Amino acid sequence: MKKEKALSSPLSKGVESRLDSRPLVIGDYTLSSLVVQEFYLDGGAMFGVVPKTLWEKVVPADSMNRIKLLARLLLISGNGRHILVDTGMGSAWSEKLSAIYALSPFTLSIELQRFGLQMHDITDVIYTHLHYDHLAGAFELQDGHLQPLFPDAMHHVQEENYRYASHPHPKEKAGYLGGFVEAFGRQKNLNLLNGDTELFKGIRLSISNGHTKGQQLVTVFDDHLTLVHCADLIPFAAHIPLAWVMSYDIEPLTVFDEKTDLLELAVKESWILFFGHDPNHEAATVRRDEKGIVADRYIAFRHADSPS
Ligand SMILES: [Zn+2]
Repeated sequence: MKKEKALSSPLSKGVESRLDSRPLVIGDYTLSSLVVQEFYLDGGAMFGVVPKTLWEKVVPADSMNRIKLLARLLLISGNGRHILVDTGMGSAWSEKLSAIYALSPFTLSIELQRFGLQMHDITDVIYTHLHYDHLAGAFELQDGHLQPLFPDAMHHVQEENYRYASHPHPKEKAGYLGGFVEAFGRQKNLNLLNGDTELFKGIRLSISNGHTKGQQLVTVFDDHLTLVHCADLIPFAAHIPLAWVMSYDIEPLTVFDEKTDLLELAVKESWILFFGHDPNHEAATVRRDEKGIVADRYIAFRHADSPS
């Protein structure tokens, strides 16, 4: 076994220069970041037992104590595929719920056009999990019924998450609301996965159970560079501190342990962490300092060129 690098070692020259190159390319894939929607959730729920006096310094709240979240999707293009990770909240919401979430218009098709793509070009959708803010953007309302926006794509989710989402614990029922899980189950081309797997060459899915059962993180890697879509294990860069976990998490202690494992590896291997909800930070590398593991370098690759 080769000697491990010191945990706080700076990024290697090779990795550093690749972080600056646009578009961000890892292995056979070009990675793009799509901001498709804004919505608001209660700030206290997003930061669990962390006092507001601490979290509001990092993430300001509005007059209703809500904070802004993005639906930031990862688009992975290569080897003849355009793979979308998660879908946002979409447009199939009542006026009442749209107001509660202060939901902005859903701009996925506009974002895809930046790369010369249309909805039907998406070959695969990987769902980190089926909470409404990750799933509902896969549907639109037509005559009062949910219709799939990607009817011909393959839809990849962990079977455990799909089964659980269909019959969630009452505490979590609100996270799987709105009939979207049922509509998901009616689609063709479902790929229900059982555990960690390399879905395509250089794209690994790994289970993370603390936020909800059967969540999967998406990792794109080659020999030198790795990007991890942290899903709701680390939704904001502000959730990097181990104790900053959400009230939504079903097993906060498991989240703590899973974050510890992920962040240790991310420091050691100079991984890029991608944040699906953070309004200010798309992605970051991490390092260890006297407070623990902290964000090191923020990375923005949203304005990359065409992935095709
Ligand atoms: Zn979630």
